Amino acid sequence: MMYSESLVKLGKVRSEIREIFEYGNKRKAEIGAENVFDFSIGNPSVPAPKIVDDTIKDLVDNFDSVALHGYTSAQGDAHVRQSISDYINGRFGTKLTANHIYMTCGAASSLTIVLNAIMLPGEECIAFTPYFPEYGVFIERTGAKLVAVQSEDKTFQIDMEKFEAAINEKTKAVIINSPNNPSGVVYTKETIEKMCDLLRKKEKEYGHSIFVITDEPYRELVYDDIEVPYIINYYHNTFVCYSYSKALSLPGERIGYIAVSPDMDDEEDAYAAVCGAGRALGYVCASSMYQRVIEKCLDATSDISIYKTNRDLLYNSLTDMGYQCVYPDGAFYLFVKAMCDDSHEFCEKAKEHELLLVPADSFGTPGYIRVSYCVQTKQIEDALPAFKKLAEEYK
Ligand code: PLP
Repeated sequence: MMYSESLVKLGKVRSEIREIFEYGNKRKAEIGAENVFDFSIGNPSVPAPKIVDDTIKDLVDNFDSVALHGYTSAQGDAHVRQSISDYINGRFGTKLTANHIYMTCGAASSLTIVLNAIMLPGEECIAFTPYFPEYGVFIERTGAKLVAVQSEDKTFQIDMEKFEAAINEKTKAVIINSPNNPSGVVYTKETIEKMCDLLRKKEKEYGHSIFVITDEPYRELVYDDIEVPYIINYYHNTFVCYSYSKALSLPGERIGYIAVSPDMDDEEDAYAAVCGAGRALGYVCASSMYQRVIEKCLDATSDISIYKTNRDLLYNSLTDMGYQCVYPDGAFYLFVKAMCDDSHEFCEKAKEHELLLVPADSFGTPGYIRVSYCVQTKQIEDALPAFKKLAEEYK
């Protein structure tokens, strides 16, 4: 075989979400964009805040051009990393320094770097359903195995009994994602405390470190004053994988960071392993200009009031129509029970009404669908009759 068989396969099979998104583009060309209700993809629908554009203009006009577009240190500009650690410390009361921060091209690269830094072939990494399907791709590439643990019914908090049963001597890490894609669920403080207590107990029992990798592209997208616990304050062996893709509506600019807990076992080696993985994967020096942009926008977020309006409209309307929906405290997805056993069949039926929904089987939750509400509110208003007709077909 001339090429890696597994990678050829991976390259040929587009993710299901992308398939539906591409179908949507084709359909829009055929019948007009206003007649297709595309709820498939998690692309922010509100613009980046004004401070982002103002900062870009200011940097281009006033910052030394060679430095602005030149390489920074492999792990990111020292001043930027210092500003980020100061900001996190001010907000969460942590004790990070610039040497706990590694700048990345968004959450996806943060995750692959951390996973490569810690996972060895044969080891196991736990993820709770529903989980971002790319976790499987990232984990398997390290030679380790993803172990899916089913979450509690309805609340989608961690089922502690199932979690404990899944931990064994091969368990090296646990990935959490709160606010969650696709359920919108935010883990409560109680859930986090129980999870961390259990991990401490298991570290003692097996005599080795077990890491928490917290995937946080949606941290800033929460509604109604919901608190999202900062995991470094609860657990020593924590890697935070942060991204500005959703918080600042910059998914195409590819900027984020890894924060390594200062209380990590062998802290210096942990950061070195992150730097080493970044180097081995070719992820040195995230976009130099965007490092400087986000440094000036640490306190800013996009206008998330639009997502809240969409959440309320969609959740209330679909619930009234008889759909069973998980109440989303954050992110911009509504997680809905398909009205028949087969979520693919349900999404195909939805297509007949020009509704583009995503079956959630690849998130480890067959029987559910994901509705991305990062769209114009008018699209939701216009789509409601189609949702109603779809529900009526199953009555
Ligand atoms: N993790 C989750 C749960 C996501 O939903 C996404 C993107 O949608 C990512 C990671 C990747 O984010 P980024 O664009 O920052 O790489």
